[in-house]
Order: sequence, then C-alpha cells, then structure tokens
Amino acid sequence: MSLAALEARLAEDLACLDLPANPWVPPREGVTDVLVVGAGMCGLAALAQLRLWGIDRSLAVDASPEGYEGPWETFARMRTLRSPKSLTGPALDLPALTFRAWFTAQWGAAAWEALGKIPKGQWMDYLRWYRKVLALPVRNGTRLTGLCGEGDLLRVELATPDGPESLLARRVVLATGRSGLGGGAVPEVLQGLDRRYWAHSADDIDFAALAGRDVAVIGAGASAMDNAATALEAGAARVDLLIRRESIPAVNKLTGIGSPGTVEGLAVVPDAWKLKIHDYCAREQVPPPRHSVLRVSSHPNAQFHMGCAVTGAAPAGARLRVDTSRGSFETDFLIAATGFRNDFADRAELADIAPHVLSWADRPDFPEGLAKDGALGASPYLRDDFTFREKTQGACPALARIHCFNDAAMLSHGKVSGDIPAVSTGAKRLARAIAAAFFAEDVEAQFARLEAFDTAELQGDEYAPAPDLPGH
Ligand SMILES: Cc1cc2nc3c(=O)[nH]c(=O)nc-3n(C[C@H](O)[C@H](O)[C@H](O)COP(=O)(O)OP(=O)(O)OC[C@H]3O[C@@H](n4cnc5c(N)ncnc54)[C@H](O)[C@@H]3O)c2cc1C
Repeated sequence: MSLAALEARLAEDLACLDLPANPWVPPREGVTDVLVVGAGMCGLAALAQLRLWGIDRSLAVDASPEGYEGPWETFARMRTLRSPKSLTGPALDLPALTFRAWFTAQWGAAAWEALGKIPKGQWMDYLRWYRKVLALPVRNGTRLTGLCGEGDLLRVELATPDGPESLLARRVVLATGRSGLGGGAVPEVLQGLDRRYWAHSADDIDFAALAGRDVAVIGAGASAMDNAATALEAGAARVDLLIRRESIPAVNKLTGIGSPGTVEGLAVVPDAWKLKIHDYCAREQVPPPRHSVLRVSSHPNAQFHMGCAVTGAAPAGARLRVDTSRGSFETDFLIAATGFRNDFADRAELADIAPHVLSWADRPDFPEGLAKDGALGASPYLRDDFTFREKTQGACPALARIHCFNDAAMLSHGKVSGDIPAVSTGAKRLARAIAAAFFAEDVEAQFARLEAFDTAELQGDEYAPAPDLPGH
C-alpha cells in the first residue's frame, strides 16, 4: 500500500463513520469557536477531534515554525521514543490514522516487524502527515501573548509574523506542552548563575562547543541520559552525572499498571487517591530507558556519581566549581536535566489569569505532608472539562472557558494530555465537554433551529386517512 492509498482508506473510513459531522455551532460574527494554543501532539489531537465533531470554526496557533512543534526535532536528544511502537497515540480510534498504518503504507509489513522503537524524527514526520492529511488549520510562528475574559468571550492577544493581532474566542485550549504553565525546573543553586556556565536540558545547547571539555549533568531521568550521551557523542572530554539517589530508579510504576482502567479511573477516583497515587509515582520516579543508560555507559569517560546531591555552584575562572554532598569539583559546563515545573511566573501570556487559578495546594484538604509549592501542590485543580477553577468565586469567570490540556492536567485527569498512550482519550474527553457546553450555552438558538427546521421526510402521498373506524 502507498501513502496515497492509505489516505484514500482514511477518507473512506471517515465516510463510513459519517465524519466530519456537519457544522452545527451557530456562528458568531468575528468569533473563533475554539482556539487551540500549541500544535504539538496534544493540540493536533484536540483540534482534530473538535473538527471531526463539526466544531469547525476552530484553529491552532503555535510559536514554532511549521513541522518543528514540540520537543521531537528540537530539544529531544534521544534517538528513539521510549514508548512501544504499537501505541495508537493521537489516532482518535481511526486505524488508518495510526503510526503503524502510516509506517506500513510506506515501508511495508516486514519493515514494521523489524522496527524496534520509533526514531524520534520519524515520529515528527508522522505528526506532520497527521496534520496534513486531516487538513488541520494551524498558524505557525504565532505566539499567544495575552489572554483574558471579555464579556462571555475570551480576548486573545497574539504575536504573529505580520505583527500583533487580537481576536475573540469562545474557548481557548492550552495545549502548550510540558512547560506550558511554567518552564524548566531549575535547582536553587543555579539560579542567578551566569548562563555561560550552564543550561537546562530543554534549552538549545551548542553541543559541538562542548568537544574536548568537561561536562556535568544533574539528574538521572531520560533527559539526563540523552543530554549526557549527546555531549559524549559530540566529543566531551568527560561527563559526570550527578545523581542524588543511591541508585537509578529501575521500575516504571504507573506505565507498568497502565490499562483502560487507569486512563479513565485516574480522573474519577477521590482527590485523596489522586494525590496518593501521583505522590507515590513522583517519589518512585520514572526510570530512564535501558537503551538510553547504555548509550551513556558505553563511553568510558562517562561517570555515574550516586548519592551526589548538588549543594552549590560558582564560577572558578573560566570553569565552574560544583559543590556536592560528596565533595567539590570543577567542570566546564553543567546541564540541569531537572524536569519542568508549573509556575505561572514564567508565562507572561497568562499573567491576567494566573493569580485567579485554583491550585491543588489551595484546597482545604491538601495534605499537610506535601509541599504546597511542589509539583503536586502547584498543579491546577481542574474541572471535568479541563477548565481552570477560580480561587475566589466570581473573580475571574473567564477561567471556565480556558481548558488546560497539557501535562499540568495530570493530577486532575490522569495521563491523558501529555504522553502518547492515552492522548486520544484526552482529546475525546475534551471535545465531548466542549460540544456539550456549546449546545447548552446556545440552547435557545438550538431550540430556534429546532423550530425552524421544516424539511419534510413524508410528502403526503404515503397514506390516505381512513373515512371511518371499523363498525362505524
Ligand atoms: C524529550 C522528551 C521525550 C519524550 N518522549 C516520550 C515518549 O517516548 N513517549 C511518550 O509517551 N511521551 C514522551 N514525551 C512526553 C510527551 O509525549 C511529549 O512531551 C509531547 O511532546 C507532548 O505533546 P504536547 O502537545 O503536550 O506538547 P508539545 O509537543 O511540547 O507541544 C506544545 C506546543 O505548544 C507551543 N507553545 C507553547 N507555548 C506557546 C504559546 N504561548 N504560544 C504559541 N505556542 C505555544 C510550543 O511551541 C509547542 O509546539 C517526551 C517528552 C520529552 C520532553
């Protein structure tokens, strides 16, 4: 099968499912129905589902150039995805829209059998095709710069290639990725330190410039391994991995028990269970993939330092002195592979709404033992439709129209808006809620449509009224 044949099959599948639905949302002059911010995997899946369900005055914007959305061709430094190739990801239950169908159409079934993990560039190619084959309207090079309520709508400020632009939308979906509500999590000891000595693992790092130099990497997760390996492959003289724990976590807990039950159930179990499960997973941590660790350890000049917490860092001439719980040493460059955090302070575009967003730590029943400013406490406490809630009732009603469809939704909704496995479930949950809300909000207009609808199915020639009842 060729890609053209697959595309024909997808079109036929959609026709069999009677999709896309006819547009049914009453238009409002000059108003976008749903603006999706971010056209990475989650934004594309959300936009696709909305349009398949006839909410077609919807579009996405993304700050990145076309084809370079998300981490895959930017700061993702692994060779392949961690996920198994069989996951159906953003395919929205359409077999012809899966990575497998796309791959097999081009390289055949034998190549599919032979494929181990999906090369990251190929995953990006698949997302590019996904956007193209569904004809999803995405404006690239367009960044959200401001967001606030205006009447019963949202006022959206954008920086576009043609200059600033302002538009009105009924709903905004923040599909802005891992750092979508914040940025890189940076250890306190690095804050304020001149950036020529260090970078966050999601930064654009000039690895060629690290050839022949010493590099230290903080962390033991997948990104720590990927960045260490990239530095080693670029010719770093030595790479020291500074790992706080006594051993690298080895068991991928939540993925291990993954099931349709976890996908649906983590959204509905009581809050105490959500906190207990995610706190446990955060403490256990996700191990780096075995192949990523081997990619590092295959270099004799890579050193894994266990039980080695970083306690300080300061310039020492052209080098950097790093203090750790196991002593001090000097290096040329340090990479903090320390993950991401939800901190609105790094997101100027959300400054108007940020002070009003209710977080899990704001809840009276938030457990004493958990840090209020930690990852769980700082997570937004979302409604069933992914919208934010207000800290103070009535202070920012616009929040009920802003959907948080990114990694920060995990504690409220489970893992349906960040990773590949269940993104279709998340996109459907989101689109279902928006479809229902649009109908409910427009119920008068929908009732008027009902009254006005007068296309007769019967033409009057199907039957003749009987003159009398039997016996009369
Ligand atoms: C290095 C790395 C490797 C990963 N590997 C895997 C894996 O193997 N398996 C797995 O299941 N998951 C993996 N993940 C997790 C997850 O699948 C990815 O993070 C994925 O990219 C999430 O998709 P997303 O759409 O939520 O975010 P992204 O793909 O990051 O897309 C968000 C988009 O929002 C845009 N954006 C942000 N702010 C604005 C703004 N203000 N205005 C306009 N646009 C904006 C960005 O430009 C970006 O394109 C990985 C994550 C990382 C970081």
